[in-house]
Amino acid sequence: MVRVRFAPSPTGPLHIGGLRTALFNYLFARKNSGKFILRIEDTDQMRYVPGAEEYIVESLKWVGLDYDEGPDIGGPKGPYRQSERVELYRKYAQVLIEKGWAYYAFDTPQELEDMRQRLRQAKSSVQLYNHLTRGEMKNSFTLTQAEVKERIEAGEKYVIRFNMPADKQIIVHDIIRGEVKVNSNTLDDKVLFKSDGFPTYHLANIIDDHLMEISHVIRGEEWLPSLPLHILLYEAFEWEPPKFAHLPLILKPNGKGKLSKRDGDQMGFPVFPLDWTDPKTGEKARGYREWGYLPEAVINILAMLGWNPGTDQEIFTLQELIEQFSLDRVQKSGAKFDPDKARWFNQQHLRKKSTQELAQMFLPVLESQGIETDEQYLFRVIELLKDRVEFIEEFWTKGFYFFEPPRSYDAKGLKKAWKQQTPEIMLELKEKISQIDDFTSENIERELKQWVESKELSFSKVFTPLRLLVQGSTSGPHLFDMLELIGKKEVIRRIETGVSTIKR
Ligand code: GLU
Repeated sequence: MVRVRFAPSPTGPLHIGGLRTALFNYLFARKNSGKFILRIEDTDQMRYVPGAEEYIVESLKWVGLDYDEGPDIGGPKGPYRQSERVELYRKYAQVLIEKGWAYYAFDTPQELEDMRQRLRQAKSSVQLYNHLTRGEMKNSFTLTQAEVKERIEAGEKYVIRFNMPADKQIIVHDIIRGEVKVNSNTLDDKVLFKSDGFPTYHLANIIDDHLMEISHVIRGEEWLPSLPLHILLYEAFEWEPPKFAHLPLILKPNGKGKLSKRDGDQMGFPVFPLDWTDPKTGEKARGYREWGYLPEAVINILAMLGWNPGTDQEIFTLQELIEQFSLDRVQKSGAKFDPDKARWFNQQHLRKKSTQELAQMFLPVLESQGIETDEQYLFRVIELLKDRVEFIEEFWTKGFYFFEPPRSYDAKGLKKAWKQQTPEIMLELKEKISQIDDFTSENIERELKQWVESKELSFSKVFTPLRLLVQGSTSGPHLFDMLELIGKKEVIRRIETGVSTIKR
């Protein structure tokens, strides 16, 4: 039975890298008819941020990654919020102590620093709390059992540390990376239980993965260094470990380092699924949703960051991803984030929508502009612009002139296209237009082109300023389709207004 979990810590807004981890877990679960679980890892009180859990839940809902068990919906292995499981971790920490795999330590921060300082002075290449140093520290190895008990009863602060074995070859297997070998001498006696009464990530994480019967741990590469410790913890508890798959990092567009909020701010793209305001600093971050991305596009973007189908197919629905996903096709190397490609994915998914759907999505934008329009007219505008937009908003920014006359004219366009004789030509053109009875695109095109030729003018001399007058800029959809849609009366009105307002 496949059971996987997404286990974010509520320390701020969910990064898209986290959302990708959730997606890959989800795809793996659905593909294998398994369960996808949401577990909130909130045992780090220092880093806890109010609202972050709600943000995670809302993000998953927005992109449609529905989980089978989780803090808000419950399930057979709950509770799914680690802060509600603390007693359990305490109990299991005791088990490790009894087995000799863990011990109490009473060292103060100053004493720990002094130890590191001594090692640095002795030119030791590593400064670890381990078999070499624990004998000189204040812990179960150097204190008698009675002393340990006394200190705890007196309310002295203590931690519980893992008793890392000396010189042990640890071999871990990762589905994506293969075999990884680590010598335990490079690892330290990690704190499993903190002096604040909460477990650390490592202890809580593996206890939960075991108790929740997780079959595969699929998570970001940044957790790979923790894997040897986790494997030893399973050994200590005499539990069968799950299988592990560590996903590649999402890299900056230039490939140098991990994708960060700064990169997004600098280059103009979101790195979070939803808008977020930091409750302490008030700092704001933009989200894909508010930016105008479709949730299905976000899914598609994330799926291609580190996975590929092995074919040329790039556009996927969530259902298609479920069918084709496998961990074998997840790459080891980091996946570069490409902001242009992200927009392209959104465009591709917009194109898959029907005119009616697009109109529905565009209506709120029109309403916010105070525009009321006829449905049939709206549909035709959408059809004309559909291939030119990457975001719904752009039906307005690239097509407002279908709903109201331009309020200004593009300066560059004017400079290029508005010549001495242009006003005169435009007024003559207006006369010509008023004589066209069959005001349909094809006919307008035929009649106007004939007219231009008969006047021995060039098309660009006439049609570029005409476009400027009607829409305010010089590029847009097919000119004659646009004229037909805007209508003869309005086109004439805009020519008149433009000619009288544009100063030479
Ligand atoms: N709480 C960890 C995180 O924030 C979970 C890591 C894991 O999946 O083991 O990413």
